[in-house]
Amino acid sequence: MIHMIYTGGTIGMVQRGDGALEPAGIDDMLKYAPELSLMAEWDYCQLDPPRDSVDLGPEDWLLLARHIEKIYDRYDGFVILHGTDTMVYTAAALSFLLEGLRKPVILTGAQLPIGAIRNDARNNLITAMELAVSGHPQVAEVGVYFNDRLLRGNRAVKTSIFAFDAFDSPNFPPLARVGVSIHYPAIPPLPPRPDRLIVHQALTPQVALIKLFPGLTYRLLASHLDAPIQGLVIETFGSGNIPATPGLIDILERAIHERGLLAVAITQQLQGRVHLGAYAAGRRLQKAGVVSGGDMTPYTALVKLMFLLGRDDLSLEERRQLLARNLRGELTPPSEITPESPLTFSPGPRDPAT
Ligand code: ASP
Repeated sequence: MIHMIYTGGTIGMVQRGDGALEPAGIDDMLKYAPELSLMAEWDYCQLDPPRDSVDLGPEDWLLLARHIEKIYDRYDGFVILHGTDTMVYTAAALSFLLEGLRKPVILTGAQLPIGAIRNDARNNLITAMELAVSGHPQVAEVGVYFNDRLLRGNRAVKTSIFAFDAFDSPNFPPLARVGVSIHYPAIPPLPPRPDRLIVHQALTPQVALIKLFPGLTYRLLASHLDAPIQGLVIETFGSGNIPATPGLIDILERAIHERGLLAVAITQQLQGRVHLGAYAAGRRLQKAGVVSGGDMTPYTALVKLMFLLGRDDLSLEERRQLLARNLRGELTPPSEITPESPLTFSPGPRDPAT
């Protein structure tokens, strides 16, 4: 038995009499995919009213997690219909909130509405359902299904606003590829998880994300740090570098040591990981107490901060350790980086510290 949750987004729009596309109720929308009933026993509910995903946030992620918690034992899997704009944030949040998940939670959406004559909505919806009922162990986690690929939810990024192939997972292979049949590539196992579902009940949204750029001033960083934030994601250059602009590192270091700011460095490049020890410019961050976020996406790093800050059972030092650790498959742990891996840091022939 599968439970479908409709939150809104382009997927659920249908054509009215005058040809205009409008958000529909889930009943209206599902008339366009009658074959779902041939595939599985399933039922559904919807967010009232369905919303554009840019209007979903931490409160809604908690609502979804609690809803799944309440009905978890009655279903074999869950399909969440969601707008594409913030789908990866919701997916990352659910991956952290639903600890010990052993059933599929598959988010999907579309670039063209189900009520349009030519669309990707029907295919995404029907295949997400097929994956949810497959019973395959590789789908028993939070995934994003789009255009013939099931991606790990906390590894996915939206890469296009017009292509049907709108999502990618640059640092992790897909969980499943869908063609004439469904292929499940070999992937590293998820970190150990508890046997039963534990649903975490809090997120702390007092976090910020700053992308470094040439010319970033001390004053701009200071204005970010003046805000009452408890966590900061720093999108660094390359493998974790920050310019030597006077004051930048000092102000970060003060925020970390004097008021316990939880700061994590990731790379602004789509592929690869930060390695703070590699260049002098990265060592500055390490010395200041910034945690290495490995190859986490910016979306996942931000949500992970909210999750760890929301856990009042953890000390600051435990939060720092967990931030760098692979909790739900969201980052590649050093033990899984092989010399052949294209994601391995390789400084090349020049002295990296100069
Ligand atoms: N703005 C829409 C949303 O994210 C776009 C979409 O659904 O694709 O809800």
